[in-house]
Amino acid sequence: MHLRLWGTRGSCPSPGPATVRYGGNTTCVEVRGDDGHLVILDAGTGIRELGRSLVAGAQGRAIAGDVFFSHAHWDHIQGLPFFTPAFQAGNHFRLFGAPALLRSLEVVLRQQMSPVVFPIAFDDLHARMEFRELTGHRLNENGVDVKAISVRHPGGALGFRVSPPDDPSRSVVFIPDNELDKFGDRQPGAPTRDELVRFASGARVLVHDAMYTGAEYMDHRGWGHSSYRDAVDFAIAADVETLVLFHHDPERTDDALDTQLALCHEMVAERNGKVKVIAAEEGLELEI
Ligand SMILES: [Zn+2]
Ligand SMILES: [Zn+2]
Repeated sequence: MHLRLWGTRGSCPSPGPATVRYGGNTTCVEVRGDDGHLVILDAGTGIRELGRSLVAGAQGRAIAGDVFFSHAHWDHIQGLPFFTPAFQAGNHFRLFGAPALLRSLEVVLRQQMSPVVFPIAFDDLHARMEFRELTGHRLNENGVDVKAISVRHPGGALGFRVSPPDDPSRSVVFIPDNELDKFGDRQPGAPTRDELVRFASGARVLVHDAMYTGAEYMDHRGWGHSSYRDAVDFAIAADVETLVLFHHDPERTDDALDTQLALCHEMVAERNGKVKVIAAEEGLELEI
């Protein structure tokens, strides 16, 4: 499988000279199955550039793919109205959300294209946009196995594990918004930390929320996000190969992120951990 990061930022797009290396676009990740099937994880502003890339690569052929939404917070959906392939007839996208989210994904995606806030209505998109519920928290089709788990986030959210059907060890786990600290136990429908560890266990790549320093986290308990330390501890407990620090705080400059990454490397060394830690960077590609 092949993974590419198109949006790495949490909460709010944050372009500018101080974020140019790690990127200012909000959450969007492309995963390609072994046979090339397109899986898109979240539709933050990063999906705009992904759309340009898909149109250029298709050279006029139809584009199809499955979009999985972790949840409908703005930073995970706001790029969809700027996703060029959605405006082209002949293309087909299936949009998957969890039935258990507080409000249906379809309602929110339609509302963000209502005339008060956007000039083009959802129904005016020319591609076939098909809403699907991820019932049973699993979809095994088109040579890609996608499993979902509820995570610890206000309003409810999902994490995903994507792998080839015949090789679950070759997995990417994507958990963009999740409060690992025990305070996260209070989130609605929160799984235990052990359940989360089992879900991510042995993954090749774990893309996980790492929004706060330890001090920042103390001011944001209950906001549904994790500290760098919690993300590193979790990756070690789940025995993953590579941890990708993700959902960067909009205020985090590239230089500040370098500093946090170095501290994460020290934490891994202190624990004699084997996990490789990198920081999510727009355009980063990994083979899985
Ligand atoms: Zn978010
Ligand atoms: Zn969120």
